[in-house]
Amino acid sequence: MNYSYWETEHLLAEIDYLIVGMGLVGLQTAVALKEKEPKAHVVVIDRHAWGLGASTRNAGFGCFANVSEILDDLKTDTPENVYQTIQKRYHGLHKLRNKFGDQAIDYVAKGSCEIFTKQNRDDLSAAIDSIQAINTILHSELGLERTFTYTSNNPLPNAIGAIRNSYEGQLNTGKLYKSIYSFGQQLGIKLYGGIEVKAWEKADKVAVQTADGLTIKTNNLIICTNAFASQLLDEDIAPCRGQVIVSEPLEQLPCEGLYMYNQGYYYWRDIDNRILLGGARNMDIKGETSYEINSNDTIISELKRFMMEEIFGKDVQTAIGIDHQWSGIMGMGKDHAKAPLVKRVEPNVYLAARLGGMGVALSATVAEDVVTLMHS
Ligand SMILES: Cc1cc2nc3c(=O)[nH]c(=O)nc-3n(C[C@H](O)[C@H](O)[C@H](O)COP(=O)(O)OP(=O)(O)OC[C@H]3O[C@@H](n4cnc5c(N)ncnc54)[C@H](O)[C@@H]3O)c2cc1C
Repeated sequence: MNYSYWETEHLLAEIDYLIVGMGLVGLQTAVALKEKEPKAHVVVIDRHAWGLGASTRNAGFGCFANVSEILDDLKTDTPENVYQTIQKRYHGLHKLRNKFGDQAIDYVAKGSCEIFTKQNRDDLSAAIDSIQAINTILHSELGLERTFTYTSNNPLPNAIGAIRNSYEGQLNTGKLYKSIYSFGQQLGIKLYGGIEVKAWEKADKVAVQTADGLTIKTNNLIICTNAFASQLLDEDIAPCRGQVIVSEPLEQLPCEGLYMYNQGYYYWRDIDNRILLGGARNMDIKGETSYEINSNDTIISELKRFMMEEIFGKDVQTAIGIDHQWSGIMGMGKDHAKAPLVKRVEPNVYLAARLGGMGVALSATVAEDVVTLMHS
């Protein structure tokens, strides 16, 4: 396609900051830049009309940590990295709530519960043994009293125990995305969907090549493409797809709030009198290591089984309708490293990516971190 004189000379010219990726990180990076430099020409592009990776496809957990995941992460990462990422998520959650307001994003502090059944009795014992030590660290890092508490009381049919985190809450992913998007527009940030970046190179300015043959020049390039960042840079980021289903509305739900099971591989919550359930990626890790936003039949069947048997305590044949089903893609490192990557790749080229499966809260801190790095 040939771009017009007006498009190349006016819409996509004299750009101070070009951000690739219109997810939560890209949008908030743009907002932070524009707030720091109101006169700067800040442009965000995405290959989709709006972000199409994880930010509009997630489950809306306003979460920062659960015990089993901490213990699992400590097997492959340093305690410094693990607790620093938790801190970033915790502070990010507060930034989101303060900036956009609980009402606008439907944030409700219902807390979260990590559920254990007979199948993972050993994990429960390990978690109970570690609660006190983890709480002590989180108290000194975040000032929180008893972040995790054990309870034998929970509404789920097959659970033998649960660990509760009262400092977490749920939000409405659609409303959060819309709030940040509108906020950016009001600041004068230009948001253009439908532009896919194929490559970039550093010359007098940074030159970005798009899939349809356009070259966009910018003073600074910030790559916020999360799972897809290794398509543009040689970095340790792999795609991890996740599937989600949502039940029909029901008169009575078996539980409300945030729930996790099996090291966070299964997660569910209430939304508008429905149950939203995601995960089961462990049923087909290889198949879900994919850049394609596709469905996975094995996992969808498992999610339906889990919803009926483990959440509703009913036979899998019981007809609870599934009204919505989708997938999204998150970015993780080798050995499932979850610490985000925020770095200067070259002078005037930056990366802010690899947000993992708890990236909603983290996105606010990562955006702030990359902007601080750019101005250091
Ligand atoms: C199913 C699922 C459930 C989740 N649930 C939760 C949850 O409940 N709570 C939580 O905290 N986190 C959750 N997450 C993780 C969270 O959503 C992500 O960590 C976060 O949204 C990442 O934001 P991002 O902006 O870095 O990436 P993304 O939202 O993925 O944005 C990257 C953008 O880059 C664009 N892009 C990629 N390549 C190119 C290119 N070459 N040219 C132009 N554009 C490009 C993509 O289209 C995409 O819009 C979940 C993720 C998934 C997939």
